Parts: sequence; C-alpha cells; structure tokens
Amino acid sequence: MTRLAQTLGLTEFQTDIVTTVRRFVDKEIIPVAAEFERTDTYPQPIVDAMREMGLFGLMIPESYGGLGESLLTYALCVEELARGWMSISGVLNTHFIVAYMLRQHGTEAQKQRFLPRMATGETRGAFSMSEPELGSDVAAIRTHATRDPDGGYTIAGQKMWLTNGGSSTLVAVLVRSDEGADKPHRNLTAFLVEKPTGFGEVLPGLTIPGKIDKLGYKGIDTTEMIFDGYRAGDDDVLGAAPGRGFVQMMDGIEVGRVNVAARACGVAVRAFELAVRYAQQRQTFGKPIADHQAIAFQLAEMATKVEAAHLMMVNAARLKDSGERNDVAAGMAKYLASEYCSEVTQQSFRIHGGYGYSTEYEIERLMRDAPFLLIGEGTSEIQKQIISRRLLADYRI
Ligand SMILES: Cc1cc2nc3c(=O)[nH]c(=O)nc-3n(C[C@H](O)[C@H](O)[C@H](O)COP(=O)(O)OP(=O)(O)OC[C@H]3O[C@@H](n4cnc5c(N)ncnc54)[C@H](O)[C@@H]3O)c2cc1C
Repeated sequence: MTRLAQTLGLTEFQTDIVTTVRRFVDKEIIPVAAEFERTDTYPQPIVDAMREMGLFGLMIPESYGGLGESLLTYALCVEELARGWMSISGVLNTHFIVAYMLRQHGTEAQKQRFLPRMATGETRGAFSMSEPELGSDVAAIRTHATRDPDGGYTIAGQKMWLTNGGSSTLVAVLVRSDEGADKPHRNLTAFLVEKPTGFGEVLPGLTIPGKIDKLGYKGIDTTEMIFDGYRAGDDDVLGAAPGRGFVQMMDGIEVGRVNVAARACGVAVRAFELAVRYAQQRQTFGKPIADHQAIAFQLAEMATKVEAAHLMMVNAARLKDSGERNDVAAGMAKYLASEYCSEVTQQSFRIHGGYGYSTEYEIERLMRDAPFLLIGEGTSEIQKQIISRRLLADYRI
C-alpha cells in the first residue's frame, strides 16, 4: 500500500482527473488555505482555477456543455479538494446538487436555460431548505408561496443557513404552497430563484443579509435569505411540478450525502497525513513518538477508519451510478464517514500534543471544520432514522 483511499477499477479519465485535482490541491490549495481561512476571505483565485478545470460541469451532461461524468468521479474529486480545504468542496457542493436536480427534474426549457451556464461556472447554485425554526424536520417548512390571481406566486418567509448564499446566482428553494394535499410534504414546491451575487436587497422582495460568522468552514459564505413579497413566475417552479418539491429536494440531498461522505474522507485523510508525519518528527523519551506503541496503534486505527469510510463512500456512489436505489448506502456512508472523520481529526489533534492547539498547525483548522460534517445534509440521528426505517421494512417479520 502506498497511500490510503485508493479506488480500484477507475477508468483512464477518472484516474487522470483525480490525479490532476490532487496535484492542484497540493500546489494551489494547501499552501494558501490557512491565510484565506484566517482572514475569512472568499477563495476567488481557487474558484476561478476550478472553473477552468471544468469542475463546475463535472456531472452536467455533455449535451449541455458539461463533462457528463458519474457521481463516483465527482465524489473522488471532492475527496481530493476537501483534503486540501473543506471550504473549497463547499463551493462546489450546492452547485452540484442544484445541477443534479435540474438534470433529473427540470423541464427541457429549464435545462436549456441554466445547465450550459452552470457547466462553465458562470451561474452558480445554492440549495435552501432550512429555516430558523427547522432543519431536520423539512416537512415543517413555513416560508410560503401564495398563488397570484394573474399567474405566478408571491413568496414570503425566512430561510437559514444558505451555503454560498451571497456568491451564488441560482437558488433552489423549498417553500410551502397550497396544493391541498393530505400529507404536509406534498404541499411543498421547489422554486428556482435567479439572483445577482452580493448582499442586501438583491432583488425586489429578496434580501441576503450578511455572512453568518462560523466556528470553521470559513472563506465560504453562509447566509440567511429573506423573502418579503418576492414574485416568482410559473416557469420558476422546478419541473413545472408544484407540490413535488419535497421529493425533488430529497433526491438532491441523497447525492449530497455521498458528497458529504467524500468530504469527510478527504478531511480524515489529511488529518492522518499530518499525524503520521508529525509522529515521526516529534521525539519524546529519546525516540520518535511513532515508536511508542500507543501512538503507532492510534495511526493504525486512524488509517483503518479512513479506509472503511472511503470504501463505503465509493460503494454508495457506484450504487447510485448503476441506477439502484441508494438511500441506505448513502445514509450509511455519510453517517460512518462523518463520525470517523470527527474521531480521526481528534486522534490527529492529540498526537500533535500542545501544538495541535496552535493556529499555526493545520490540524487546528481540521478540528474546527470536521464537526460541520456531522450536521450538513442531515445529522447522524437523521441518517440513523433513514437507515433503520429501511432495515425494519426489509427485515419485517
Ligand atoms: C455551516 C452550515 C451550512 C449549512 N448549509 C445549508 C444549506 O446550504 N442549505 C440548507 O438548507 N441547510 C443548510 N444547513 C442547515 C443544516 O442542514 C441543518 O443545520 C441540519 O439539517 C440540522 O438541522 P437543525 O440545525 O435545525 O437541527 P435540528 O433539526 O433542530 O436538530 C437538533 C438536534 O436534534 C436532533 N434531532 C432532530 N430530530 C430528531 C429526531 N427525529 N430524532 C432524533 N434526534 C433528532 C438532531 O440530530 C440534532 O442533534 C447548514 C448548516 C450549517 C451549520
């Protein structure tokens, strides 16, 4: 074994692009991440370079100007990017979910309108379900779209935790509509909101207040989004299908979970790399700490967790690519990878001793980034809910 998180059976293109992204990360991201993070600055030069590499169009079909690649290719690139800095993978994540939802559920006119511009990264996607009063309980959404007598809708309400809220130009947003269905989630509609970048009242009735200050995941903007009489047209309803928003967004979240698992793998690989290097440099009691069995065993545990998480993530991506249902596999991969990532970064931090607490050491940033992965695209409790429901259905006596 030469390095962790290798993947068997890749195509030549997959091997090439993953290698290219890894080199890009080593050369262009790792050396500058600490400074962007310290100043909480949007990493524009890195984003520009990713546009040139075609990463924003990785999974968009070639007929709409993308590279038409699989979820696995995308996830492996994300793993590499997160190894360099988790925030960079966050720039791509919501964009990728919105492009995927358009591909799966958009009308032909919506695909023509957005996908070619999304493939180049000119239009960039954000994804909004959460509100101040809810995150896990999506069916409880309160932001409301009222049907206008002359056609279209008027939207009012407040959204929370919008990743790329200020830097995106297309937000897929889930709101309550009046479809008169018996189940709450059948009264939810996904709207495509095209807006300029920036903060303040960006369109009549649509305000993006400033950035939310966060523990980690810096550089990338996370915002609220306030609708106050915002007018949306009928052709802004995803797939021209009012009342189908819950299903459409959950489909997006499912691939998003593989993506979060990939990010967790990337952060965990980096935490391991830092630990295995430091353990051979730092001496105590006359020998490198790696020669103390307690530390060597920690490294063995960390590497085993990294490998297990990577294999589950790859399995979930391949399952989706094969057209099989992958809700349980994606939930398991997200759950295991994010929990292991949290443990591996903690172990790496402890191997660094006091220096792990210094902002001069990279592990300090990883310690602040890793907890987000336990929450984004559904907490571990929500993953366990999804997994156990299916298990109890499949193993019903
Ligand atoms: C940095 C950041 C970026 C984000 N980006 C986005 C984004 O781009 N778009 C978006 O829509 N959202 C985004 N989110 C929101 C995120 O998806 C939610 O925070 C997450 O789903 C959890 O929801 P919540 O915070 O409301 O917690 P709650 O749902 O209030 O849960 C609180 C606690 O209760 C537990 N819990 C809840 N229900 C149950 C249950 N039934 N059984 C057992 N335990 C339960 C949870 O696991 C958690 O531990 C982001 C969040 C953060 C922090």
